[in-house]
Amino acid sequence: MGKPVDHVVTRPGRRLGDPEVQIPVAEDLTTVPGIPLRETDLSFYARTYPQETQNIEKAADRQWVWTVYSPEMSEYRKAHNDISEPLIDAAAVSGDLEPTGTPTGEDMTAAIRLKARELGFGEVGFTKYDRRYTYTSKRHWTKYEHAICLALEQDYVQTQSLPGMDAERAHFGTYEIEGALLLDLADHIRELGYHAQVHSPNDNSAPYIPMFVAAGLGQLGANGQLLSPHFGSRARLAIITTDAAVTYDQPVDYGIHQFCQLCQVCVNRCPGRALVKEKVWWRGVEKNKLIYERCRPVMARYDGCAVCMKTCPIQRFGMPAVMEHYVATGQVLGKGTHLLEGYTFMEKGYFGPGELPLFDRNFFEIPHGRNEEWLFQQFKEKLVKEGIPSQAELVGFAREVKKIIDKGNSTLGDE
Ligand code: SF4
Ligand code: SF4
Repeated sequence: MGKPVDHVVTRPGRRLGDPEVQIPVAEDLTTVPGIPLRETDLSFYARTYPQETQNIEKAADRQWVWTVYSPEMSEYRKAHNDISEPLIDAAAVSGDLEPTGTPTGEDMTAAIRLKARELGFGEVGFTKYDRRYTYTSKRHWTKYEHAICLALEQDYVQTQSLPGMDAERAHFGTYEIEGALLLDLADHIRELGYHAQVHSPNDNSAPYIPMFVAAGLGQLGANGQLLSPHFGSRARLAIITTDAAVTYDQPVDYGIHQFCQLCQVCVNRCPGRALVKEKVWWRGVEKNKLIYERCRPVMARYDGCAVCMKTCPIQRFGMPAVMEHYVATGQVLGKGTHLLEGYTFMEKGYFGPGELPLFDRNFFEIPHGRNEEWLFQQFKEKLVKEGIPSQAELVGFAREVKKIIDKGNSTLGDE
């Protein structure tokens, strides 16, 4: 059954030099460019309930994951952290570096875009750095008003093998490459005569997806990831902010906001039952919200899981093919097939369409909140169960709290 087309989106090719692609958007998928937004609500929440990074807010489970990692994962993650650390440190001070070239005052959009594409970024877009999304801990760190949104694709074949260590190498390895490329691009912007601040993908200053959507690089999927035209969510996102004059891109309606409501493959295939079918209004944005506490235990124990990335047709086949198929047939490309929906879940075996692994209730019991919150929660439970603790236990508890205070909060992510 053919579908009438509302509009056709034209995007640059996947690699520099590739021909442009055309994405037909069916009438019944058309909603709004970007994402439905209530500006006043967004501003209200940003002002009244500013966001903090999950690396702080959810520090307790981020520490816990190390206790359930496989030995191979543990070793690999330590090596990854060693590689990433100097890149994150360099990004942290990048905004303070002075330009090395002479500014012309001309619009630098084309020059920066070309360099970013030469370096290998698959999607490049420009928008205002929207401070309403800035994490509390980064509020005084962010310096410049224009955001360059940069997506680096991770390996296709390795990604299709997930969950497993091979896919995790693609995931973390892409961040390592990206961390270095961002520093190169920032150097180039300084050579052009302008400041450049690298917002590391491993030490985020804000959730980056809203700015990628504002820059027209994709739309938010029901899996909570940016679905970009060529590689869907198979990409790692970062931002550079600058004071160079640039022209902002505009948000685009690729049809994804509505398409996800028909597709639902990731929602149905999620082993943790962590994805939600209905959209809700959250902090001024209409979106599908992920249930963090149902995702985290699965991700930690099953090599990053990411079944929601693998089973997404936009990731698997690319947006042009999926949207052309929808216009031609009214169907979701690959839905219901083993090719798209099947996955092997370590010792639990293979799960085809309609089949999901089972976990018992204890599986989902993980530490919650900040480290000190989790410690207090455990202390409270002990009080209720066992009454007033001994002097030695009280001192031990105080020591643990002090240790957390002295260590301070780290904004570094576990990407
Ligand atoms: S990572 Fe796994 S558990 Fe988490 S939302 Fe995706 S599919 Fe579900
Ligand atoms: S799998 Fe389907 S519902 Fe989920 S993000 Fe991809 S397109 Fe949207």
